[in-house]
Amino acid sequence: MKKGETYTGRVQHVDFPNKAVVFTESENPEDNGQKVIVKNSIPGQKVRFMVNKKRGGKCEGRLLQVLENAPSETADRCKHFGTCGGCVYQSVQYEEQLKMKEAQVHKLLSEAVDGELNFEGIIGSPCQEAYRNKMEFSFGDEVKGGELALGLHKRNSMYDIVTVDGCKIVDEDYHKILTAVLEYCREKELPYYTRAYFAELGTAFLGKLSHKGYLRHLLVRKAVKTQQILVDVVTTTQIEFDMAELAGILRELPLSGTLTGFLHTRNDSVADVVKNEGTTVLYGRDYIEEELLGLTFKITAFSFFQTNSLGAEVLYSKAREYVGTTKDKVVFDLYSGTGTIAQILAPVAKKVIGVEIVEEAVAAAAENAERNGLDNCEFIADDVLKALDNITDHPDFIMLDPPRDGIHPKALEKIIDYGVDSMVYISCKPTSLARDLAVLQQRGYKVVKSCCVDMFPNTVHVETVCLLSRKAQ
Ligand code: SAH
Repeated sequence: MKKGETYTGRVQHVDFPNKAVVFTESENPEDNGQKVIVKNSIPGQKVRFMVNKKRGGKCEGRLLQVLENAPSETADRCKHFGTCGGCVYQSVQYEEQLKMKEAQVHKLLSEAVDGELNFEGIIGSPCQEAYRNKMEFSFGDEVKGGELALGLHKRNSMYDIVTVDGCKIVDEDYHKILTAVLEYCREKELPYYTRAYFAELGTAFLGKLSHKGYLRHLLVRKAVKTQQILVDVVTTTQIEFDMAELAGILRELPLSGTLTGFLHTRNDSVADVVKNEGTTVLYGRDYIEEELLGLTFKITAFSFFQTNSLGAEVLYSKAREYVGTTKDKVVFDLYSGTGTIAQILAPVAKKVIGVEIVEEAVAAAAENAERNGLDNCEFIADDVLKALDNITDHPDFIMLDPPRDGIHPKALEKIIDYGVDSMVYISCKPTSLARDLAVLQQRGYKVVKSCCVDMFPNTVHVETVCLLSRKAQ
């Protein structure tokens, strides 16, 4: 097989995350039955692809066309399907999506776990559409020099944006807000901020770095239980512009929820991330409230909070079941975000200490604990790696819920050194979980049981929960 050539093949299965394993079908015996990894394909599909990487006997291809649909696919898909970079599994029936994710995690855990694997399978999301409580839309254009767009990145594109006014993983209020903001910004002829973009020329990168413009992101949060909505327009400071008029327009929108805050955040950093470098509240307040498992949480614009509220209740219930009793125990909730898990475990625990790197989230966590009448929670704003050196309390139980990259190897060593009897590890990326489990097992822990929870229907993502206990010496 040659780089740059086009082939056809059948998708056998998909490895996490989004790595479809295709076997070629060709009349040329040399090109028949070859294994190629092609992103964005579904098991059972017949696909046409172009080989774009070949290294060390491994081949990768870029999907060009789906020639035959998979039996598990339906016609039910949103108007952005295929163009938008999100929701790769959208065309697959939900039960099949669950089976795919379950098989992916099962495979990774089977390879990672020593001895017999006690895997409880996958629990689906209570809601498969309009399940998100947060969306970060980017400003840009769909084609270079085209009309202003506001939405998500196009599939396989670092800089093209598709206006997702029909996105199915959020509700109508998001569409109305997105459309109103986009129309307003078009009318005012506000320029979007051009990200660094790279045009690939052979193997060399031709870097065209331009950091000019104004509009960057639109952040929308809507709580499922309280229906409160927070909108934040993120811009650079390259133009002086007053967004107060837009606040008035949004307040007039016929929304099913209630707009409780409109913010304008400035961010001049070159990285393409939603970041806070100064926010003005132009209407209402700078947070929304959400309810989970009977507790109330204040969520600010930039704090981490699980994006599927109903799914989070399922995930946290599973985690609580794995934790068992925390009566009279000192619990560490590491990577605690807005302190959700800490507060769910606090009512019977002796004390819970949460560690989280985002200060805004820590402040919200402390306030949330107070609102929920919990006086045995302490939240520390620091890197877990450093914070553990300064905490004087000794944990009886540790909850781990790190970001996608998993736990820093040195932090993991410190965590293991506490020698607690059991820990629960919640992971949003099973490949980094598998890596961390190898270390945990080597250092005396065993994986007692594990389970998946689907918090992200239609996408390639999945959460995994593992109960670990210290092997008898
Ligand atoms: N347990 C929380 C948040 C989990 S997401 C919940 O369920 O809502 C992971 C969190 O880890 C994020 O809030 C992120 O800001 C935080 N984080 C990332 N790196 C960190 C580090 N090195 N030290 C502490 N917190 C970190």
